[in-house]
Amino acid sequence: MPGHGQPGCLVLYSGGLDSILACRVLQEQGIRVTAVRFITPFFGQEVAGREDEFKRSVWEKYSIRLEIIDITDDYLPMLRNPPHGYGKNFNPCIDCKILMVQKALELLPAYHAGFIATGEVIGQRPMSQRRDTLNCITNDSNAAGLLLRPLCARSLKPTIPEQKGWVARESLPHISGRGRKIQIELAEKYGITDYPNPGGGCVLADPIQGRRLRRYFSRWPAMDGNDCYLALTGRQFHLRGGWWLVIGRDKRENKRLSSLCRKGDMFLDSRNAPAPSGILRNPGQAGQLDISPSEETVSLSASIILHYCRKCSDGLELLTTWGGVKGSVIAEQAASAETVARFALDE
Ligand code: SF4
Repeated sequence: MPGHGQPGCLVLYSGGLDSILACRVLQEQGIRVTAVRFITPFFGQEVAGREDEFKRSVWEKYSIRLEIIDITDDYLPMLRNPPHGYGKNFNPCIDCKILMVQKALELLPAYHAGFIATGEVIGQRPMSQRRDTLNCITNDSNAAGLLLRPLCARSLKPTIPEQKGWVARESLPHISGRGRKIQIELAEKYGITDYPNPGGGCVLADPIQGRRLRRYFSRWPAMDGNDCYLALTGRQFHLRGGWWLVIGRDKRENKRLSSLCRKGDMFLDSRNAPAPSGILRNPGQAGQLDISPSEETVSLSASIILHYCRKCSDGLELLTTWGGVKGSVIAEQAASAETVARFALDE
């Protein structure tokens, strides 16, 4: 068995059963495990805004110490141009994994860890978990010898932690392929009953949202994190002059829009009526206060908002805020279905 005083391990934690098991099989060998959940606007959003609660629940349910780290700034340049290309949608899975391993490598000293582990299983997914893909991830992230896949390590070349005896290779499970039987048995053994289904959770791999993001990135290559959050919220319209209108579909999205509003945006807020709020943004002019939307753009936006307001038969007055200046706009007539369809980005 591994001895005391040996380096700990940083486990890439997706929240799925396999990453939970990767943590548990290493813990069972006496290894100090820190799990790290990387988040971006595209995945990990289930924890955003409730990080402490989530970490506590992972600790209580699985006895796993979790760190949550936002890697958006490193992720976006890779997403714009992933060396290994995209999967079926806008998902750059191989480069996404390489980036995560690289980030974990950088974090090793901070967590007094000597190696990295993931819950990957050889042969489980047709593309991203083939032997050659696993090798490519290891090599391209410069993690050779330091990246252990504890669930299938016995089918792979021994890594440094195994060679040095920090990890007892022969005691690791021996999983491969698509079946889930061994994982389910292990979950039972560790008393893990409550875990998310595998697969879901990444909007880049989603056919609708992934396609939307792909279009946005080709239209506005400099999209930043806030733009990505905005692209994933509410109803989306592209107006003349490069203006992008996003309107909320419910109270929660209205609140979200108000939190995403930034310098250079116009925020449209219904004063009295229970109507959608909206943001008008010109992504090409981010942060420039001297470019305001034209009156025509603002009235068109208000009429589109009115189109979605069921309880505003007498029209709608919206409060506008742009660059700290407050104003208002009145929409007397709702935009027609044809007008809405003409400007809608993907409805
Ligand atoms: S599905 Fe999304 S999070 Fe998962 S590897 Fe692919 S791009 Fe990364």
